[in-house]
Amino acid sequence: MDLADNLNRIEQRIVAACARAGRERSSVTLVAVTKNQPAQVVRDAANLGLTLFGENRIQETKIKIGQCPGHFRWHMIGHLQSNKTRDAVHFFSMIESVDSLALAQEINKCADKTAKTMPILLEVNVAGESTKFGYRPDQLLAEFEQINALPKIEIHGLMTIAPYADDPEKARPHFRCLRELKTECEKILGVPLPHLSMGMSGDFEVAIEEGATMIRVGTALFGARPKPVAKNEDVE
Ligand SMILES: *Cc1c(COP(=O)(O)O)cnc(C)c1O
Repeated sequence: MDLADNLNRIEQRIVAACARAGRERSSVTLVAVTKNQPAQVVRDAANLGLTLFGENRIQETKIKIGQCPGHFRWHMIGHLQSNKTRDAVHFFSMIESVDSLALAQEINKCADKTAKTMPILLEVNVAGESTKFGYRPDQLLAEFEQINALPKIEIHGLMTIAPYADDPEKARPHFRCLRELKTECEKILGVPLPHLSMGMSGDFEVAIEEGATMIRVGTALFGARPKPVAKNEDVE
């Protein structure tokens, strides 16, 4: 595995997808997904200029941040339990995986205590998969105003994980659906939402063509992920 080569190839694919879509390269941010990866992987990535990392477990991230000195930003991309929100608000610059009003309220409370405003994305389960977290689109629209009214939360946009498929084209309708849902939310808000976080190793080019502003890439950058270290480390 040569990280520099992988990053170069991904960069070229991002540039090409942007060109196909008539978009600027600067409109797409690469979130390097380092979940389950050791701190050394983060440091190697940082040496190549990557500064934004995606993680899905609080405990693991806390340890990793301590082992990776530097000015990095960390995005929470995994399901967040309410009892972990305090740490999540502290360690992450964005929580991409807000999937209920109750969680948003809890984040709002924790952010208020630390005099912080927390940028979030609302995660949508566009394909309605029973194995995935995330809002049903109709649920999201029903709760959107209540979440937006929380003073210490800033909604920056929407996030989704497309169903796994060998053919990336299969993800296109789901990405399109998320983009259309963002437009619906913008109508409620009256202002544009800047972000659509969609696209992973297998489908980020299609996601860019459909308007992704953040792509979350793990295995295409770092190779196969090690298994999680301790399954229950986040359960107290
Ligand atoms: C693991 C994960 C990714 C990265 O997936 P790859 O297929 O390894 O690129 C992206 N987004 C979320 C929410 C994830 O959990």
